[in-house]
Formats: sequence, structure tokens, C-alpha cells
Amino acid sequence: MDELTRLKRGQAPLLEWYRRARRDLPWRGERTPYSVLVSELMLQQTRVEAVKERYVRFMERFPTAEALAAASEDEVLKCWEGLGYYSRARNLRRAAEIIAKEGFPQTWVGVRSLPGVGDYTAGAVCSIALGLKTPAVDGNVLRILTRLFADGQNIDEAGAKKRFSDLLERVYPENAGEFTEALMELGAIVCVPNGAPMCGACPWEGLCAAHAEGREEAFPVHGEKRARKIVEATVLVLRAGGTYALEKREGGLLKGMYGFPFFEGEAPEFGKTLAVKRAKHVFTHVEWHMTGKLVETERFGPYLWASAEEIEERYAIPSAFKAFSEWVK
Ligand code: SF4
Repeated sequence: MDELTRLKRGQAPLLEWYRRARRDLPWRGERTPYSVLVSELMLQQTRVEAVKERYVRFMERFPTAEALAAASEDEVLKCWEGLGYYSRARNLRRAAEIIAKEGFPQTWVGVRSLPGVGDYTAGAVCSIALGLKTPAVDGNVLRILTRLFADGQNIDEAGAKKRFSDLLERVYPENAGEFTEALMELGAIVCVPNGAPMCGACPWEGLCAAHAEGREEAFPVHGEKRARKIVEATVLVLRAGGTYALEKREGGLLKGMYGFPFFEGEAPEFGKTLAVKRAKHVFTHVEWHMTGKLVETERFGPYLWASAEEIEERYAIPSAFKAFSEWVK
């Protein structure tokens, strides 16, 4: 059976399964194009469980693009706290400014040109919010399709996404958004990445080539992974009279975020060291191996000095620094 036939046959059972088995998630209730954009940006590289509560909080605080456009960047970052990848929050705010001024774009090209929106998010938003037949192909969808076809293409290769996206586009039904969400849901709760996929609960059990061969785990095929760069660093929690030093990071990772003073390699001596601890934070391509030091000192230098309450209320400290936040009290 060729790929197209397999997909066509898979469409109806997938939709039927989705209507029956889908999870009740906060962003699946009443929605607007703006709310779909918010949820899709939040869900990029972030687990559903981590997004749930924060999505509700964010939509209460910024229910419309106009409300978000009117907020300061610091307010938006604070509300994004805990979700990581903060450039998404900044982009979302800039996108809200455009939407507030010009209205929500009605085409794939228009949505794709919003800040922070790549091919995947544009496909998801256009199909779910606007009903357009635009596939959204991410790692989850690649996994389920390569299993369905027992397709050994290296999915890290340029062109792999495009190939599967073109295939999907040919079978998209009228209820485009539902189909997009059904594919995502299958990848999230049945055809899962780690451990054995739950083929017994899968609407494609009788159709799936990998399952028929008993080789579900052989797909998808990846290229060689690049090793992450290791950065040894020192993070100082400088305490002076009940306030703590923060710096706004000027470049590189976590640019524009507030964090504790960060030094690649060793840090200069600024006072008496009261505690030391090691922590690690893993980014996509880099790992920070950090030695954190709690240091009693006097206020000085270019830092912003804030009390524990102010830090809690006003500044979004990225999770990379969370291991050292326990010293702030
Ligand atoms: S039958 Fe198994 S491997 Fe195939 S799509 Fe379903 S869950 Fe994935």
C-alpha cells in the first residue's frame, strides 16, 4: 500500500478516535485565533502539563491581543515565568502589537510572517484557528508518520519535514483543525516517543507498517546528534543588606532576562562566600555547568539590587538559575 492510500484510509479512524479519546485541555475550549496563537507558542518545546496552568493565567491576564500589546515586556516575561525559551514571550508580544493594529492575518503567509512563528506554528494556527488545510509537521507528527509508513528517511535531513507536509496536505479534510489536533494528540498520548508506543489503543493498529513488522521502535530514524557545548561558569548570588544583585543579560542565551551575575570560568572575589553548590542546566545546544556561590557583600557596580519580595513579584528569573534561588529569602 502506498503512503497516500495509507493516509487516506487512516483519516476517518483517526478523527473518530480523537473525538472519543482526546484530553480536555484548557486551550481546547472556546477559542479565538489569538488564543490559538498563544497556546501554540507556549506548547513549542514545552510539556502540556507545564503549559496548562500558565496558559490559563496568561489568558486571564492578557485575554486579547490588545491587552498583550499594551503590557510592558517585563510584565509579559513575568507571566511567562517557568515556561522557558523566553524569546517566545517577546515575539508573542510583538505579534500582538501587529494583530492589535492590523487584525489577525487570514492566510498562511500572513501568519507565518508574525514574529516567532515558524512553519509548524503557522500550519497549526491556520488549520485550528482559520480552518485552512495547512499541515503542521513537528517531531511528533514525523514520528507517527514514519512509523505508519515504516519509512527509514533520516528525519533530521533537510527536506524531510517538507516531504511529509506535502503528503499530508493532499489528504487534509474540511475539518482541518480537528485533523491537525488529532495527529498531535496521537503523537502525544498513544504513539509516544520513549518506551513502547501503545499500539493496542491506536486507531492505526491495523494500518501501521512499523507495527505489522514489530519494529515500532526503529522509527523515526535520526542522523548523528551533535554533542552539546559545555560551558563551565560561576554564578554569584550577591547579598547586601537584604537585597540581591541581578543583571539583565545582554547577549547570548537568555538575552534580555534578569539573572544572577554570571561569569564564564571563575568569578572575581566580591566578599565573603557563605555557601557553594553545583548545578547544571541543559539548553538545546549548550550545557551550563555552574558553581553557584552565595556571597555577603556591599552594594556596588552595575547591578540592580532587589529584595526577595521584589524578585518574586517583578522579575522572571529563568529556570537555569533556579537552583540558586533558594538562597534568596
Ligand atoms: S500502531 Fe503503534 S507504532 Fe503504529 S502509529 Fe499506532 S501507536 Fe504508532
